[in-house]
Amino acid sequence: MNIILIGPQGSGKGTQARILCEKFNFFYFESGAYLRRVAETNREIKKAMDEGKLVADEEMTSYLTAYLDSKHLYDDIIFDGFPRTVEQYRFLRGWLAKKNVRVDMAIDLTISEAETVRRLSARRLDSATGKIYNLITDPPPAGIDSGKLVQREDDRPEAIEERLRLYNERTRPLVSELEKEIEVIKVDGERPIEVIAKDLESIVSERSGK
Ligand code: AMP
Repeated sequence: MNIILIGPQGSGKGTQARILCEKFNFFYFESGAYLRRVAETNREIKKAMDEGKLVADEEMTSYLTAYLDSKHLYDDIIFDGFPRTVEQYRFLRGWLAKKNVRVDMAIDLTISEAETVRRLSARRLDSATGKIYNLITDPPPAGIDSGKLVQREDDRPEAIEERLRLYNERTRPLVSELEKEIEVIKVDGERPIEVIAKDLESIVSERSGK
């Protein structure tokens, strides 16, 4: 079963994806984390990301296919951050069809714009481990020096604004497109992490039979 996790930045997709992967043994594909690794040696990608812009569809899809092909992995994947546009979804649907699999469902984690801004402004990166914390919803555990945590370039106010604009312009239409073809389940992302996780667990368990 392949699942697309969709939702604005800061809606908790990464946190929930990790919980689901652990519970159901899905493979986690997180486009943002993948691209951050690419950006270490690719200045153009780094610039686009720092400014909150999207990487071009063709480039993004070729990274995705090369990566999954290298692992021979086409099913039982949770996609987080990809697809982000209608074009990326159409590509993914066609590509998976050739492997005789499909996107089975999408989960749309909904939060308001005000909450997105509040959460992203509180997000901090531990550069040593790559782990992301949120000073509001997911604070670092004792032993982690919060003074050493840094703010991601794309979590600065101008970049947040651009990312929200792109979400509304490019990703919201994708939700309508997905609704025409597969089950899209809206889940309120403004509740506590454990409450959402419980909801998602029963949604996935019912549909996957796992
Ligand atoms: P994220 O961590 O998902 O917010 O992604 C961080 C950044 O990576 C985005 O602001 C984009 O610059 C880039 N990115 C991630 N996923 C995609 C995608 N599917 N298509 C284009 N750009 C992407």
